[in-house]
Amino acid sequence: MLLVKDIVLNEDISVNLESTINEAIYTMCKNGQGVVVIVSNDIPIGILTERDILYSINNDVDYSAKVSTILDLKTLITVNERRTIEYALHLLIDNNIRRLVVVNDKNIFVGIMTQDVLIKHLEDDSYHTNLMISHFIQTPKEIITVALDTNVRDAFNIMNENNIGSIVVEDNDEKPVGIVTERDALYLINKKSDMNIKVEEVMSHPIICVSEYDKVVDVVHLMDDEHIRRVLILDQNDKPKSIITIRDIAQNLKGNYGELLEVKLKNVKKTLNYIGESILEIVEDNEEQVIQWMNDKALSNFGNYIDKTVQELIKTEIWNSIYNKVKDQERSERIKINIRGYHFEMVCSYHFVKNKETILIILRDISDFENALIDANKRSEELTSELNILQGVMDQQNNIVLVSDGFDIISVNKKFYDFFQVESLNEFKKDLKSLPETFISHKNFFSPEDNKNWIEEILRLSQKDRVVSIVELKSVEPKAFTVQLNKLSSDNTNYVVTLTDITDLKLESQKHYYNATHDNLTNIFNRAFFLDALKEEFEKAKRYHSIFSIILLDIDHFKTFNDKYGHLKGDEVLKRIAKTVYDNVRKSDIFARWGGEEFILLLPETSLEKAELLAENLRKKIENIEIKGIHKVTSSFGVAEYSDGDDRDSLINRADEALYTAKGTGRNCVQSK
Ligand code: GH3
Ligand code: MG
Ligand code: MG
Repeated sequence: MLLVKDIVLNEDISVNLESTINEAIYTMCKNGQGVVVIVSNDIPIGILTERDILYSINNDVDYSAKVSTILDLKTLITVNERRTIEYALHLLIDNNIRRLVVVNDKNIFVGIMTQDVLIKHLEDDSYHTNLMISHFIQTPKEIITVALDTNVRDAFNIMNENNIGSIVVEDNDEKPVGIVTERDALYLINKKSDMNIKVEEVMSHPIICVSEYDKVVDVVHLMDDEHIRRVLILDQNDKPKSIITIRDIAQNLKGNYGELLEVKLKNVKKTLNYIGESILEIVEDNEEQVIQWMNDKALSNFGNYIDKTVQELIKTEIWNSIYNKVKDQERSERIKINIRGYHFEMVCSYHFVKNKETILIILRDISDFENALIDANKRSEELTSELNILQGVMDQQNNIVLVSDGFDIISVNKKFYDFFQVESLNEFKKDLKSLPETFISHKNFFSPEDNKNWIEEILRLSQKDRVVSIVELKSVEPKAFTVQLNKLSSDNTNYVVTLTDITDLKLESQKHYYNATHDNLTNIFNRAFFLDALKEEFEKAKRYHSIFSIILLDIDHFKTFNDKYGHLKGDEVLKRIAKTVYDNVRKSDIFARWGGEEFILLLPETSLEKAELLAENLRKKIENIEIKGIHKVTSSFGVAEYSDGDDRDSLINRADEALYTAKGTGRNCVQSK
């Protein structure tokens, strides 16, 4: 395997950046390669070609000035001395250049490698031995000619204008007799010759011509023997048809890799330069993966990495994993990758051409998007840490604390998990569904009509009524909680819900409340509670024009009963009668001990007639109570119905009067008024 270092030219090839243009031209003439490399501290920084010198003729260049003044610092394509010459040929053609500057691993200048030398050394099978010149002059270049007596300076001008490296000289019969090349310009300038001479005097002659049916391999050998770089192609009638240069042959040698495929590929690559994405071509050469080509976008993004190993751009371990995947699947999925501080989305495709693997990398710059994402991530990290602080505060609370948007719970504290005996919020949602569903439905506690709206509903209550009861799962005991609601923030629909356990307090106050509203002998409501309830019923009746009735009940001859059976027996009778009545009225009726052996009933939505029927029914039930050793107990009833204009006293008085009538008419009966 022939490597670049085996064919490198390094004699009289470079000049220092401090040298003059004259010195550079002199070196160029001496080496005969039409090129000189400008180096600075052994690092190649530019090249000067005979084409540059040709241009200088009309530009009044001061040849004693330093080379740096005319050095066009275009992208310098270098090749590592360890590359194979096949690879080097690709590099030349893909980048459309004629020679490569050879460097070592440390980027130190080693020499140059030219197309001519390269082609000479290409292995024989690189030639299509049967390939003829005609195969690659399908689009012949127009031949520009000048007459024998043309001024040299004018000939150079024509070459400059047409951007060609040579011009054919014809005699008066339009026969090609010689050729003037840019190399002639170089020598003339080096000799400081007068440019006002005829081309006849400087042209190379006789002109070497070949037929379009000659074999390429022969033409290459001919050019090598004659030390020339171009030949004139004549058609069957010996008319000049085209000029073919060593560069044309080099380009078409690529044809042996597939019918001028490379030429087409070059056009594709040109197109790829217009694409806004960075594209790199990686080829395997001499056991290294080398960047053979970069499009303009890639060059401007990363700088010139042509001929550098791919690992100089992409970290080895990242590249290895990408490479293995790509090799395996022939293409990669989109991979996010960071190269030199930029974020890219990368797609690779893998090709295997003539025993050589080639990987095409397309990189889409997503830095803006990625940076926005990073910002968002940072922000969410900040939020998370804020949330963690909040969570810490919540967890330290002895109360159950949760954040909810009304129905859904967003976060909870430790106490919450503890109380509901769950490990996670999801478990809670799965087992118990939502918070309001845990509320025990009881008249002393809040429970919502619509679970989804529970926060709205409870907010309508006064703070003292915002009390719920929930069964604690650890003890399986109902607990009472006050519910405190605080909006998380004004622009947010989330509430911080705090449930404070007031079970002990609630029990205590319930005891007080019970005592204050109930009769302690019979356990039914007391007179005070009844009067409150009656007051509410009056308001309701006045507002809604509803009806209601009351019944007064008085035990007959109870004084005598006590006297006969004793006070304790009397108490027992009071309890039995209370229970009998309680069991025979509706839940909505209010039954209370009015005083001594008198009871009272408030019957909402009840007419006088219905109240009388109820009273009669109760009378019979009481009469039929069986108590050991006692014959029977009877009671008298006074019934009254609310009518417009009634107040509390007038209504009760009417019932009392009816009761009085019942007592007066033999007792154990019902009277109404
Ligand atoms: P009348 O048929 O006219 O109502 O006769 P009465 O004896 O029931 O009426 P009176 O008002 O004269 O007497 C009421 C009696 O009720 C007096 C009292 O001994 C008895 N009494 C009142 N409260 C209690 C109580 O808590 N326990 C017992 N055992 N008796 C009571
Ligand atoms: Mg009485
Ligand atoms: Mg009585």
